Parts: sequence; C-alpha cells; structure tokens
Amino acid sequence: MTSLLTPDSPVETAPATASRKRPPAVERFRPQARRRLARADLLGAVGWLSGVAAVALWLADGGASGFSSFAGTMTALGIVAGLIGMDLVLLMLLLAARIPVVDNAIGHDRALEIHKSLGKPALYLLLAHGLFLAIGYGAAEGLDPLSESISLWVNVPDMWLAFVSMALFIAVVVTSLVAVRRKFPYEFWYVVHLLTYAAVGTAIPHQFSVGGLFAEGTWQRWYWLALCIGTGVALAWFRIYQPLAASFRHQLTVSRVVRVAPGVFSIEMTGRNLERLAGSGGRFFLWRFLAPGQWWRPHPFSLSAEPVPGGRNRPGKLRITVRNLGEGSASLAHIRPGTKVAIEGPYGLFSTAARSREDVVMIGAGIGITPLRSLLETTPFDPGHAIVLLRGHDESELFLGQEIMALCQARGVTLYHLTGPRSSGDHSWLPRNAVNDGFTLSSYAPAIANADVYVCGPALWASSVIRDVQAAGVPAEQLHNERFDW
Ligand SMILES: Cc1cc2nc3c(=O)[nH]c(=O)nc-3n(C[C@H](O)[C@H](O)[C@H](O)COP(=O)(O)OP(=O)(O)OC[C@H]3O[C@@H](n4cnc5c(N)ncnc54)[C@H](O)[C@@H]3O)c2cc1C
Repeated sequence: MTSLLTPDSPVETAPATASRKRPPAVERFRPQARRRLARADLLGAVGWLSGVAAVALWLADGGASGFSSFAGTMTALGIVAGLIGMDLVLLMLLLAARIPVVDNAIGHDRALEIHKSLGKPALYLLLAHGLFLAIGYGAAEGLDPLSESISLWVNVPDMWLAFVSMALFIAVVVTSLVAVRRKFPYEFWYVVHLLTYAAVGTAIPHQFSVGGLFAEGTWQRWYWLALCIGTGVALAWFRIYQPLAASFRHQLTVSRVVRVAPGVFSIEMTGRNLERLAGSGGRFFLWRFLAPGQWWRPHPFSLSAEPVPGGRNRPGKLRITVRNLGEGSASLAHIRPGTKVAIEGPYGLFSTAARSREDVVMIGAGIGITPLRSLLETTPFDPGHAIVLLRGHDESELFLGQEIMALCQARGVTLYHLTGPRSSGDHSWLPRNAVNDGFTLSSYAPAIANADVYVCGPALWASSVIRDVQAAGVPAEQLHNERFDW
C-alpha cells in the first residue's frame, strides 16, 4: 500500500464513486442543528440575564438610594460587584455541573471554556466587592479601608468566613492560570479546584446574615436562595447521583485488553442495558477502573466502537482505545479481566447529535483516530457522502486502520491514508510529500464547505487542520473538534 494516497487514488473508492453522482438526500440534520443553536443562544441569553436580574432585583429593593453620598456610592458599587461576581461563580459551577441540556447544546469542551473564561472576571469582581465595601463602610465610620476591614473581621459575625472565602477564590483562580497549572500534576490542580465549593460555602453566610441586602421578605432573598439551592442540587444530581446510577445500571466489567500497536491498547468491557448508550459513538466518558492504585483516578476516554446492546443471555459490549501517554494510562494496559468499572457520561458533542449537514468529513491523527472509528460506524450518511482522512507517521500509527477501512468499504466512504514525515518549516498538518506535490485540504475534500467536519488529534496538529478547514469556508457550527488535553 502506498504511504500517501493522492486525491485521485483513495484507499478504496468503488462504492463511493458509484454513488457520488446521486442527488443529495433529504436534509435531515438541519432541524436538529437549528434547534441546538437556538438552545445554545437561549442558554447564552439566560446567562446574561442572570447578571441583569441580580442588579434589577437590587434596584427593585431600593439599592440605588445609596448613591446620594460618597460612602453610599462606594458601598453600592461594592454590593453590585459582589452580586455580579457571585452570579458568575454560580454560573461557573452550573457550567461544570455536566448538565445534559448544556452539554447537548454547546458541548462539554465549550462549557468548560466558558467556565474558565469567567474565573478571572469573577475574582476581580469579588476583590472589587471587598475593596469598595471597605472604602464605603470606612468612609461612613471615619476609618481607613484597612482599619475598616479589620473591624469587619473582628466585629461582624460571619465576616471572617467571607475573608476565608476570598483567600480560597484567589487560590483556585491562580492555580487555574495556564502557566501555573502546567507546573503541577492534574491531581493537584483538581484538589485545589475542589476548594471552589468551600469558597462558595464560606461566602454564603455573610450574604444572608450581614446587613439588610437579603433581608427576609425581599425578592432578592428568594432569588438568591433559589439560585444557590438550585446550583447545589444540579451539582449533586449530575456529578454524584447520575454517575453512581449509571455505574450501577450498566455494571461494566473489563472483559479483555487487546494490544493495538506499541503503547496502544483497547479495553473491552461487558455490561448491562447498553442499549441506553446507543448513538454515543465518538462521545467520551470518565472511566474509573476499580482496581488497587486505579480507583481514585478517573480518565476521560472516548468510545472507539459504538456500544453493542446485549441479548437475553448475552451481556452488551463497550470498547475504548487508549494510548499510553502517562503513568496512569500506561498502567491500564495491565488491568485485569473482571475489574469493575465506574463511569460518568457520556459527554461531549463529538457525535451524531452535532450533525447539521448530509456530508461528513472526518480528519484524525494518532489516538484521535479512534473516536472517529466509532462515529463512522453509525452516524447516518448515504454512500459517497463521507470522506475520512487518517494521518500518521506511518501505517502502524493509523490505529484501528484495518477496522476503519472495512467500515469505509461497507458504507461507501472515501478513505485516505496520509502517512509520511511532516513538512518542516510551516504548520502543515499534511505529510511533506503531499505538501510538495501541491495538495491541500480541498484536494481531498473538494466540497468540504458544505459538510460537517470532525477533527481529532494532537492539539497543535488539530489547530493546523482547523485553520485550513475554516479557510476552506466551513462555518463554526459545522466544525466539531474533540480535544484530548485539559
Ligand atoms: C474528552 C477527552 C477524550 C479523550 N479520549 C481519549 C481516548 O480515546 N484515548 C486516549 O488514549 N486518550 C484520550 N484522552 C486523553 C487521556 O484522557 C489522557 O491521555 C489520559 O487521561 C492521561 O492520563 P495519565 O494518567 O496517563 O497521564 P497524566 O498526564 O499523568 O494524568 C494524570 C491524571 O490527569 C488526568 N487527566 C489527564 N488528562 C486529562 C484530561 N484531559 N481531562 C481530565 N483528566 C485528565 C488523568 O485521568 C489522570 O488522573 C482523552 C482526553 C479527553 C479530554
């Protein structure tokens, strides 16, 4: 087999070429895409409105009356900053709660991106809250801001908890900054991140006990109580109850571990009620293998095969394919058959749920090829309406390549194996030979602008692909990218 296939010589073409001339099928994915985008817009609007509601309720309860003096103005600004800051913190928690309506509308990745982007503004607002209040209360009592802060800590019940909360928020945001986060193992970042719950918990008492802001009988009191309780329930339900229920429902057990290539292996599992996971191909779960040294380490891995429901006397089957990229994933190669597995998920939009067009282009490299394998298995398209591009240094790096080829033959997909060293100097994601011969993305997928494009592979490689995909005229809603980094 050639190491690089030119655009006019894909790995196999017969069924695809034969059917490429067929008229396009009914556009069955447009309504689902429209609904998803409408839901995403609605969620965005709800997010903005929550900030507006925080201020509107404060105004409705007579908050603006403080603006008549310097001390009152500072105090009012401090309160508004605190209200919006707290609103952002609750939004961040809701975005991290893995609520299905959020995941299905914007995807897990995007939800976490927004979650991260709110961290700094929330912290700045909470710091401004403390500073303005110290100035405002101090001005009213003839104290400088520092003396006022000490007096608040000492004399006002619950206020010391608010100071502790602020220190915790600072710790969480600082350890989440990319430059700082990269210096620590994931587990350290995760444990510090859990302090967010303590930060919120210690921030709440002073909001209700100090001053008349959330005094009994005000709208604000009920609104904030509902928001805090709703957020707590969502977290408990989706991050604790649902994973426990899913693990119990599916009773997953490792059946065997199969070597795929050096450092790459598939973990096959059996389980119950897997028909409930049908259509999850391409999505990911957090897997917790309940074995010594493993149970405390959840790993995100995508399905590399569509779940197979069981029969009356036969359990269903699931499979993931793992590349040894660190200590934890390497040790999974030795996981024993019979090991029980706890799961959280499925998560993400790298699935049929993201489809918006009849045509599909799938572009994968390295271990990123494996979720494409499961997506390819069941996502609907007519023969001739899908193109798969697999990139690896050589054929052995096209993991599950034989299975993918068989699926492509069966479903009439045009498949290219793009192997060989990368071209130096530029950021091309194609092999050097292809670049030298003048091939571009459009050479392989000429009609890509009207297709859903799924991209999965190493971060830098994927960003080069995405640049070319966008340059080829693919709008954001047709581009679906699964990132394997955190
Ligand atoms: C959505 C998604 C899907 C993925 N799918 C696959 C796949 O199908 N096959 C595959 O081989 N790899 C996949 N990965 C990458 C894989 O999760 C990591 O390579 C693996 O967890 C590394 O663990 P480690 O202990 O070997 O490495 P370390 O870097 O030592 O990781 C230490 C700890 O960090 C956790 N961790 C590492 N990366 C992440 C992360 N991205 N998100 C949350 N926790 C993380 C690990 O679970 C572990 O507990 C995926 C990652 C993501 C985010």
